[in-house]
Amino acid sequence: MSAELKEAIRKYALQNACLFGGKANPKAVMGKVLAERPDLRSKAKEVSAAAEEVCREVEGMPFEDIQRAVEAIDPNLLKRTKTERRNVLPDLPVAVEGKVVMRMAPGPSGPLHIGHTRVALLNDEYVKRYKGKYIDRLEDTNPEKIDPEAYRMIPEDLAWLGVHVDETVVQSDRFEIYYDIARQLIDMGKAYVCTCPPEPWRQMKEEGKACPHRSQSSEEANEQFDRMLSHGFGEEEAVLVVKTDLKHPNPAVRDFVGLRVVDSVPHPRTGDRYTVYPMMNLSVAADDHLLGLTHVIRGKDHLNNTLRQEYIFNYFGWRKPSYHHYGLVHIPEAILKTSTIHKGILGGEYSGWDDVRLGTVRALAKRGIRAEAIRSYWLDVGMKDVDIEFSWENLYAFNKQIIDPVADRYFFVWDPEPLEIVGVDVLEARSPLHPDHPERGTRDHVLRQPITVLMTREDLEGLRERGTVRLKDLCNLRWENGKGVYTGNDHGVLKEGVKISHWAPADGVEAEVHMPDGSVRKGIAERLPVQEKDKVVQFERFGFARVETTSPRLEAYFTQ
Ligand code: GLU
Repeated sequence: MSAELKEAIRKYALQNACLFGGKANPKAVMGKVLAERPDLRSKAKEVSAAAEEVCREVEGMPFEDIQRAVEAIDPNLLKRTKTERRNVLPDLPVAVEGKVVMRMAPGPSGPLHIGHTRVALLNDEYVKRYKGKYIDRLEDTNPEKIDPEAYRMIPEDLAWLGVHVDETVVQSDRFEIYYDIARQLIDMGKAYVCTCPPEPWRQMKEEGKACPHRSQSSEEANEQFDRMLSHGFGEEEAVLVVKTDLKHPNPAVRDFVGLRVVDSVPHPRTGDRYTVYPMMNLSVAADDHLLGLTHVIRGKDHLNNTLRQEYIFNYFGWRKPSYHHYGLVHIPEAILKTSTIHKGILGGEYSGWDDVRLGTVRALAKRGIRAEAIRSYWLDVGMKDVDIEFSWENLYAFNKQIIDPVADRYFFVWDPEPLEIVGVDVLEARSPLHPDHPERGTRDHVLRQPITVLMTREDLEGLRERGTVRLKDLCNLRWENGKGVYTGNDHGVLKEGVKISHWAPADGVEAEVHMPDGSVRKGIAERLPVQEKDKVVQFERFGFARVETTSPRLEAYFTQ
């Protein structure tokens, strides 16, 4: 390999390794090299071998040295492009293309919120990468925490997020399956029916001691389980316990409840047909096996559950999926709790699950946050097991990359005040729909005497104080006797320090922008064509907003 070729490759190998945690991908590196040096295309074989070699060399360097070396060549190399971000997730262990089965397993207590989107999208990314199968498993085995609407809303939210679901499984269709698993555990001597009151039982476990029922024979346990199934026990009178290890150093992993009785509330789907409900660890373990899950990605909050579920896998000799637990996410300033939202909706405080004050997926959609932005956000955060604070700023930054190039610009004047313009017969304004895309056309306004425009109160006060203003794309004005006197249309005044203000024609449309804090900004906007309905526009100097209706009033939801 010539020194010159090595140099050309080394730059991109270092860059790639730096962006991907020390691992350099020779194919990606080669792509970059050939893009920069088309003259090397005829020597692709040689370049490929050289890229392999240089990548291996770079991977052998301490990460800090890689970073230093990249910075010395060109610090700009460390800026990730959008496509590179998309590939940032590490490969899964033992993942075979076409054979990967993964799932999202939400409880249908309400629609999805921003917190759920991480698990939904990471799984989706991997299923797509490995051409696998995505299961949406609705875990509805706690009848106290079910909103019947969620069976419809969750799939809608997943579809909106761009998640491709291959199969939907509802756990309340599978009671008999869980009972069968319970029986098998009993027969193996790995489960018992415990009728101790919950607190003393927990205390005994804490002390590593067995309760009197733990030594039940399988026969006895089966009889007791029959009694549970035939309504012979009420709530908290009996539970089926899965045995683990009472001396396990982590008390949370010692014997756990596998099934319990709930007879005070009917199930929205099965009524009172079944009153013995599996607890999450039993139904999750059973289903992860029976549905052929190969990889389970979930939050670190499930670490103890994984340890419990592994007992069931081991008893049956089932092959375990590969588990990955990512760090916990704290989401600041977001209303996410289903029960709070539910109450708020019933009490009339929230307009619905998509009330823009909420952190639900449908509220974000209503505001004009794009699913793609949420996906980019989580890809950027990745699979790390460190706990993080969710950053709305970063989500907005990703969203802006998407909406800024497509959002048409309009004027919206909040707290509007009229201003009469004198000294000119006709004013014509021609503003681009998008400053970077003249081909999209213009918004045109022709104003004839008597001319009145609307300005935001603080802008009008600014004019009063400073004595001059430029109304964007319209004209320059001087303040005189409560009116704006026309002084021409030369942009040059901006260089002299004249401030620029936006404005709206007096015959504009009444507008309301709903803010995420629940307040409403009222004003007048330019009339928007009906095609802007459901789209995100930018109200200049105000922000982006998703248009709900364009007439007879303009209604919009603030995006960011
Ligand atoms: N339904 C449970 C949850 O949402 C189970 C999830 C899992 O096992 O990944 O927390």
